[in-house]
Amino acid sequence: MTLGIYIQVPFCQTKCTYCNFHTGVVSRDRYLPYAEAICREIETHGSVSRTPRRVDSPVPLTIDTVYFGGGTPSLLDAKLLRMILDRLRRNFSFESMEVTLEADPETITPEKARAWRDAGFNRISLGAQSFNDTELQAAGRMHRRADVFSASRILRDVGFQNISLDLIAGLPHQTCETWKESVGQVLQMRPEHLSIYMLEIDEESRLGSESLAGGKRYSAAEIPADDSIADFYHSACEWLSAAGYEHYEISNWALPGMRSRHNSKYWQRKPYLGFGAGAHSFDGEKRWSNLHDSARYVACIEQGTPPREQVETVTSAQALEEELFLGLRQLDGIDLERIEREYHVSLRHRIAPLAEQGFLQLTGKWLCLAPDHLSISNNVFVELLG
Ligand code: SF4
Repeated sequence: MTLGIYIQVPFCQTKCTYCNFHTGVVSRDRYLPYAEAICREIETHGSVSRTPRRVDSPVPLTIDTVYFGGGTPSLLDAKLLRMILDRLRRNFSFESMEVTLEADPETITPEKARAWRDAGFNRISLGAQSFNDTELQAAGRMHRRADVFSASRILRDVGFQNISLDLIAGLPHQTCETWKESVGQVLQMRPEHLSIYMLEIDEESRLGSESLAGGKRYSAAEIPADDSIADFYHSACEWLSAAGYEHYEISNWALPGMRSRHNSKYWQRKPYLGFGAGAHSFDGEKRWSNLHDSARYVACIEQGTPPREQVETVTSAQALEEELFLGLRQLDGIDLERIEREYHVSLRHRIAPLAEQGFLQLTGKWLCLAPDHLSISNNVFVELLG
């Protein structure tokens, strides 16, 4: 059994208008203590795993994916990123690694990219979001279209052969034309991987508040209609498929052989450990998360107190829901026979009406979402999970 590692870096240069993540804009002075706290958390977990009484522990000690996410992890000095990776190497054995760094385009320089490569990163996830400057500006992003081209060139020049781009469908001011232009630019750049997220407006975000209360500052009135966003998504599905990308998860496409191995662990309920403020972990039986507040997280680690906030044993009913909710996000679908066997349930009566309405497809033992209903997957999950 191999394990994924997630490192959370909850710092950003500014707050995007649509963002509801637990991230903050803090002084750079806080980056070093935070990175040191992560190293100590890794060390603590590593030493627990190595003690003789845990020899038979189901917790695996070999890791095959590492993902630095955030936030904007590329804000950290490359030396700090390397320090964290080195600490992982000291405490776990690495096997056939995929090591991803999320990076915002404007943070990338040739020096940093070389340092990331030399530290062991071999995959960069680039938060492009759009290739239209009006949309980027309205969303509160720091970069512009030219920065995405420049970042991609730098990464290729220093030898990165696995680049992922993110796009958002539904940004304020987005139109059919600008969406087509953004996807068209992606196809020209031909990254190995692409994620497309449909904008979800959270009330906690500045854009969400403006949607509810009115105002013009964040262009909430310029958000495309839900039907338009669904059209953007479905048209991207066609264009990407025609260009040779495999659509393997609701929001993710990859060239053959380039699927995200780390994120696939989440959808397949494989174990992973998260380090850092707000990071989540799953060992196959329990899920837990760390304190979200980065200052409190660092204080806990410095005092030798575990930073865990919530520990929950996953019940059989919850595990079944996760199998359906997470598994069906993958376009390959789920092995219904295995699930019915392992959970001692029959799901056919719940599936039949949804299949009749064309939302689900059952082919042999494989159950999947119907391709033309992916943009309303949440509604289908609600119906299925009852
Ligand atoms: S860069 Fe990402 S995490 Fe940071 S504010 Fe923007 S959307 Fe949120």
